[in-house]
Amino acid sequence: MDLLKKNIIFNDVSKLKGVGKQFSKYLKNKKIEKVKDILLNLPYSETDRSKIVSLDKLEIGKIQTIKVLVKKLNFPRIRNLPNKILCEDKAGKIEIIYFNSREGYLRKLFPINKWIIISGKINFFNKKYQITNPDYVTSLDNEKYVKQIIPKYSLTKGINEKKYRIISDQVINNLPEVEDWHEKIFLRRNNFLNWKENIIALHKTKDSQNNLSSAFKRLVFDEICANLLVLSENRKKIKKKKQSKIFQSIISKKILNNLPFELTNSQKHVLEEINKDLKSNTRMFRIVQGDVGSGKTIVSLLSIANVIENKQQCALMAPTEILAKQHFVLANKIFDNTKIKIEFLSSNTDLKKRKEITKSLADGKVDLIVGTHSLFQKKINFKNLGFVVIDEQHKFGVKQRSELAKKGGDNCDVLLMSATPIPRTLMMSLYGDMDISKITEKPAKRKKIITLSKPETKINELWSFIKKKIDKGGQIFWVCPLIKESSFLDYSSAKKKFDIINNRFPEKVGLIHGALDKMEKEKILNQFLLKEISILVSTTVIEVGIDFPNANLIIIENADKFGLAQLHQLRGRVGRGNKQSLCILLFKSGLSKNAVKRIKILKKSDDGFYIAEEDMRLRGFGDIVGYQQSGIKNFRFADPVVHEDLFILAEKYIKNINIEVNESKYTFLLRLFDKAEVINQNID
Ligand code: ADP
Ligand code: MG
Repeated sequence: MDLLKKNIIFNDVSKLKGVGKQFSKYLKNKKIEKVKDILLNLPYSETDRSKIVSLDKLEIGKIQTIKVLVKKLNFPRIRNLPNKILCEDKAGKIEIIYFNSREGYLRKLFPINKWIIISGKINFFNKKYQITNPDYVTSLDNEKYVKQIIPKYSLTKGINEKKYRIISDQVINNLPEVEDWHEKIFLRRNNFLNWKENIIALHKTKDSQNNLSSAFKRLVFDEICANLLVLSENRKKIKKKKQSKIFQSIISKKILNNLPFELTNSQKHVLEEINKDLKSNTRMFRIVQGDVGSGKTIVSLLSIANVIENKQQCALMAPTEILAKQHFVLANKIFDNTKIKIEFLSSNTDLKKRKEITKSLADGKVDLIVGTHSLFQKKINFKNLGFVVIDEQHKFGVKQRSELAKKGGDNCDVLLMSATPIPRTLMMSLYGDMDISKITEKPAKRKKIITLSKPETKINELWSFIKKKIDKGGQIFWVCPLIKESSFLDYSSAKKKFDIINNRFPEKVGLIHGALDKMEKEKILNQFLLKEISILVSTTVIEVGIDFPNANLIIIENADKFGLAQLHQLRGRVGRGNKQSLCILLFKSGLSKNAVKRIKILKKSDDGFYIAEEDMRLRGFGDIVGYQQSGIKNFRFADPVVHEDLFILAEKYIKNINIEVNESKYTFLLRLFDKAEVINQNID
């Protein structure tokens, strides 16, 4: 019986009394589709209609409740004049105004010489108190329904408080008893209410207006738990038995001997972790986190060599064509004296070539395929795919990750590489389904990039400096936020900047941005790589992973418009060679205090993880644009800055949960936060 009642919560709202077709459409606009969505639509304030105010004590502009006698109804026969109802109590008079209501309806609502209850916003017009279109008009026997402190929800067109109460009261006042997924002792220790009481508190007290109230915290905790549960279930599904890979690292040792550098200890360590996974008999599902320039690519190629030694195919995928191309070029260089067959595939590969590659992948003639998302189209089939590596994967959500693992098949290991430093609190709730490797050091010879900031007005002081750099053979990135001049935003545009710089340094400047087509982009990047041009003016397209060892100066305009993490990524485009590199942040004068702080952090530190944490702290979680894009913003209630302690608590908590033992409890939790589908989808 309990279960039956419980499931009412997942019914469609249209099953509730008083919810017709039109109403449920309006609710849907507000993303309220199931009964449980009403529970999670929290009030943001409340309206106090609980006291009857006598007509000599009214406050103009306030919502108040009055008890009055209906004296006279006035229906003017001239169009556009409102209907007026005159009411009074012992202390005074008031007019109730309606613009578009029918006479019959109003006569019923306002019976002459009867006392009634009215609640609405008090106006004062022509020296008279008025209420226009009152929220409630009711007879005395319904007094209690109106005389309350009523929660205020953010509502939309077609739904007003009175209408919404029809359903919210129905639901909140009749919540089923639910077997709590938390132990009583745990609830008590953390000062949490049980589930039902908690929901009631969120709707009937001010607790939902304070994200540190105990009731709100319990909700947040549940949300984090649901999120972590999905990840741990995902992990169980992915980390299944596979055929272990056998290799002696013959090719990879050869490659290592030919490298002009030695791996850092961190790189060696991570490579070992990966190799161990490859050799084990459960599937690898690992993410390598390493700051920009920490040398992730070579680590992935060395592990790829091992899998190929085991006579299996590998796929290396990057988010952009440019980056994929660069990996392809590097792979060709590294595997130069081997028999390893490498191909490149992107959406721009022409049809003939694509067919050819598709065929040789299916025949097993290609050992390593490098490319973009196109590698995972339905049409592409491998003969025996053993390893998928995905670079800069932070644009993939949990669902995509598990789809990917599925596509690879039972014997396929999966490695993700990310340069997006994730604040510690978020690590688990983002990658709880994966094993995590970290490259913590950067190649030794690398010099720290010097970071300076300058107001834009002093840009003229830079030209001679830039000239010197170029004369010495250096190369420069010049980053602007937008492609074209915008009339709304006062950002510098790459195009305009290109013209200015090109005037000063003719023949030495290139322009690259997202709107260029692939051929043009590639041509310009190549010119830059070959040092045919010295300055590359660009938008943030250069942000991701591209390697230009000769570039030693990056100038970033409107630096305060970028997130710290993004600035750090951009800055990482230089300083990859042995030369001392420099990053100059240009900004408009009149920076906010916060912006000044952020620039300070960037100057002080080159540790991406530290920078990410500080960024989150300074800007608050909600504002971090980059994170939202990356799908990190998984939470509706939890805020990793405000609720850090709950994230830590949930991490520990989740380790002791076994879904199978008490499935219905946890399914309820997952369904509450719309996570159940993610899990079910992953079931092979
Ligand atoms: P990221 O981790 O940002 O992807 P890359 O793999 O692109 O970094 O490496 C950045 C640069 O550092 C490349 O030019 C690469 O050849 C070089 N590199 C990688 N490992 C080392 C090392 N151990 N010593 C010196 N240079 C290295
Ligand atoms: Mg990289």
